[in-house]
Parts: sequence; C-alpha cells; structure tokens
Amino acid sequence: MDDCIFCKIAKGESPCYKIYEDDFTIAFLDISKDCYGHTLVIPKKHFKNVIDCDGEIFARVMLTVQKVAKHYVNNLGFKGINILNANNKEAGQSVFHLHFHILPKMNESDFDSWPKLNGTFVSFEEQLEHLKLN
Ligand code: 5GP
Ligand code: ZN
Repeated sequence: MDDCIFCKIAKGESPCYKIYEDDFTIAFLDISKDCYGHTLVIPKKHFKNVIDCDGEIFARVMLTVQKVAKHYVNNLGFKGINILNANNKEAGQSVFHLHFHILPKMNESDFDSWPKLNGTFVSFEEQLEHLKLN
C-alpha cells in the first residue's frame, strides 16, 4: 500500500531500527520510545490486521514474535514479556498494517501494560451461547 508507513519500512523506503528480518517479517523498534525495547513485528506484505491476514503469513509473524521474545529473555536477560495487538480503530489500532507489540520487562513494577477492566454481570452460560465457535 502506497500510503502505509509500515509498507515503506518493509521496503526499506523509510528508516527503522531493525532488530530482526527474514523473508516474511521484520522486527523493529517502535518510534514512540515509550519504554526500553518496545518492538514491533510486522509481515512484509500488507495486511490490515489479524482479521484479514493470510494464515501462513500470520504463522510467520507469530514465529518472529516468539523468536524475538525468546531472544530478549534467553539471551538478554529480560524477565517478562508482554505481547499486545490491536485490531481496528475500536480496539485502539492506529497504524493499519498488522503488527504485534513486544514489551520486554526487567521487573514486575517496570510499568503496567495490562488493561484494568470493569467486569461483566453476564453469566458464563450466556457468554458461551453467544461466543461458542462450532
Ligand atoms: P497501534 O496503536 O496501531 O497498535 O500501534 C502503532 C504503533 O506504531 C505505535 O506504538 C506507534 O508509536 C508506532 N509507529 C507509528 N509510526 C511509526 C513509524 O514511522 N516508525 C516506527 N518505528 N513506529 C511507528
Ligand atoms: Zn502496509
């Protein structure tokens, strides 16, 4: 996609701080610099998000997410990793090229990257009736 910043990064037309690259994916530092090591993993091919992504490419992306996460923990000594992803603007997606955020942590108290939710009064049975995948 011509106007997609992550496509430009994938093609080498925009710069990035590249952590890892293979034939299908790239991992690079998030521009926000909001925490040490904030890394994004993208497919080189444009997909909007998890919902429209080809399954084989999605598997490649997840393998790279795992490779980077394992590198951060096993080789670099990070103690914990959060993996975040947003699909569509309603879920907070702001760049519409599939990506996973990797947030490495040294300590539990580094920062909070887990949402505080309000709870639900809907029973598990009712949720299951609605959500079950047959
Ligand atoms: P989203 O909100 O879609 O889950 O996350 C998009 C992420 O992309 C944000 O964390 C933002 O900082 C990052 N981002 C946006 N533009 C660029 C860019 O040009 N380069 C890099 N490295 N990251 C970017
Ligand atoms: Zn793109």
